[in-house]
Amino acid sequence: MANYKISIIKGDGIGPEIVDEAMKVLDRVAYKCGFSLEYSEYLMGGIAVDMTGVPLPDETIQGVLNSDACLFGAIGGAKWDTLPRELRPESGLLKFRKEMGVFANLRPAVVYDELINASSLKPEVVKGVDLMVVRELIGGIYFGEPRGKDDFKGWNTMVYSVPEIERIAHVAFKLAQKRRKKVCSVDKANVLDVSQLWRDTVTKIAVEYPDVELSHMYVDNAAMQLIANPRQFDVILTGNIFGDILSDEASMLSGSIGLLPSASTGEKTAVYEPIHGSAPDIAGQGIANPIATISSASMMLRYSLGEEKAADMIDSAIKKALSEGYRTKDLAAFDAKEVVSTSEMGDIIANYID
Ligand code: NAD
Repeated sequence: MANYKISIIKGDGIGPEIVDEAMKVLDRVAYKCGFSLEYSEYLMGGIAVDMTGVPLPDETIQGVLNSDACLFGAIGGAKWDTLPRELRPESGLLKFRKEMGVFANLRPAVVYDELINASSLKPEVVKGVDLMVVRELIGGIYFGEPRGKDDFKGWNTMVYSVPEIERIAHVAFKLAQKRRKKVCSVDKANVLDVSQLWRDTVTKIAVEYPDVELSHMYVDNAAMQLIANPRQFDVILTGNIFGDILSDEASMLSGSIGLLPSASTGEKTAVYEPIHGSAPDIAGQGIANPIATISSASMMLRYSLGEEKAADMIDSAIKKALSEGYRTKDLAAFDAKEVVSTSEMGDIIANYID
């Protein structure tokens, strides 16, 4: 029987509540599919500051590196906002991503039929949307040198090397092979030299994936197309800054922040987390939507552990819960038959796995 080591970081605010529900669902699906999950819990964020004096203890870094994958909740809260920058929870998170070398950020945007009215776009535009933004996460203009500012000007540098582009392109093409076999690479090659290198390199890598159809799009057009006709996209491959903007835009197609998962993968390990934060305004009330985190757990099974069937079972159970009209409070206004708590939603999804 396969046994996987999973590191768990619950974090702050609603983090513990939503991660507990994801673990509940994971345990059920593991039992059903005949594999086992061995959890080790680590500290990060405000709770780590309170208990150890630092937002990212060394033990957390080592523990996650020694695991097969990490499931992460969220960190942060007003209590820690006045600390010096290096002690803040958010500094711990940035350092964590860098230490883990997670260069590929995967953000799916799926519109559930049952929640089609929750989107800010017309139902006929968003119906059936199922796309994935693959964003390069640790290069490009956010990290390029030289950078700086004086009293008169400020400057940053967008740099990508061929190996950096190649490794993220491989992630996108491999993903597309498991989906609808289309990659749209987004750049600004009409203006930027770095984008021309990006385009040339992606085109070369595409030769290794003859079953995947590659197209290129300028980023300004991509921003427009995501709103005008989002169904045309399968996998969107792009660099750090363009991906930052486009993935936030894409996430709004589905209507609620409480639904959307993400994966950050690299050569050493992978981290799976909801796209939202620790939501201190609703923490401890049992009303947080656990679906983004449960869906992140499904991505972990699919992409890190190769347990595709188990991932499919979780995805179907989430759809079933939504189609039966179960809603947490954030989605109560959209065709709810019954408004349920965080843990009731976890129970319902876990029971549908059976
Ligand atoms: P947030 O995502 O925590 O919350 C934004 C709004 O969405 C809030 O009204 C919240 O109640 C709601 N919301 C978020 N998740 C929800 C869920 N699962 N179910 C129902 N409603 C949900 O963003 P914020 O308020 O800007 O930040 C709060 C804290 O989280 C800050 O300290 C911030 O730095 C931190 N943060 C952490 C991460 C992370 O850990 N990856 C990401 C973003 C923000």
